Amino acid sequence: MGFLHGKRALIVGIASQRSIAWGIANAMHREGAQLAFTYQNDRLKDRVDEAANAFGSNIVLPCDVAEDAQIDSLFRELGSHWDGFDILVHSVGFAPREALQGEFLDNLTRENFGIAHDISSYSLAALAKAARPLMAGRGGAILTLTYLGAERVLSNYNVMGLAKASLEANVRYLAVNLGPEGTRVNAISAGPIKTLAAAGISNFRKMLDHVDEHAPLRRSVTIDEVGNVGAFLCSDLASGITGEITYVDAGYNILGMTGI
Ligand code: NAD
Repeated sequence: MGFLHGKRALIVGIASQRSIAWGIANAMHREGAQLAFTYQNDRLKDRVDEAANAFGSNIVLPCDVAEDAQIDSLFRELGSHWDGFDILVHSVGFAPREALQGEFLDNLTRENFGIAHDISSYSLAALAKAARPLMAGRGGAILTLTYLGAERVLSNYNVMGLAKASLEANVRYLAVNLGPEGTRVNAISAGPIKTLAAAGISNFRKMLDHVDEHAPLRRSVTIDEVGNVGAFLCSDLASGITGEITYVDAGYNILGMTGI
């Protein structure tokens, strides 16, 4: 019996089989969780239907996290399938493409800043708040995905670094707010992985090559490696962990100046 046997998990953030959320869903399914999925828009629905088929789920619901009404109806609808659920996976991030190239100030606008923070950080708290009636008191867990650009300056990551810093603070505030009702909140800081979202970052290939060359493990990580840690963090095996950022990055984050 898997270590998530009997748990129900809502997975937000599948756009393709390369999505980190796909790796997390795969690990959670393997460990016995029942899954439900959301899709951002009609263009992505087929991909998410594919995930639902692969992971034996018949719950696939729309949710553009930019729309309050869609967030409300997501949990109304989910409540008609499940009287409660245990795991919320938020694997969502977005900044306008032009903001993810050049120097930080080159394409920084009030609008780009607002969109990056709204979709990549506010949405975590918005989903956590709307999910609360269905999650409270079950010993559940919320998981989000962040990146080293929240703490260090990484070329081209720009305004997304600020949004991820906000997301990481969000994890800590949510952990304190929801802890008394038994819900844990954690993030995985994943190393670079080639996904649709990553393709929006200028020179992403060079970032991957750099990690392959310099990370302690001399390689980058896979969505399955992130998925395994995500499944663990959302399971009762991690019942004492909340408000934490866990690195799944082949060790890259520990580096200072090495190899000289
Ligand atoms: P992805 O493109 O597969 O997933 C991004 C998801 O965000 C998509 O499913 C997309 O539909 C969703 N999304 C964007 N705007 C949305 C909106 N308005 N409403 C609902 N959903 C929306 O890419 P990914 O790399 O799997 O990204 C998942 C998360 O992992 C993101 O938060 C990303 O920043 C983070 N992350 C990625 C990497 C990497 O290198 N790929 C590294 C660290 C962290």
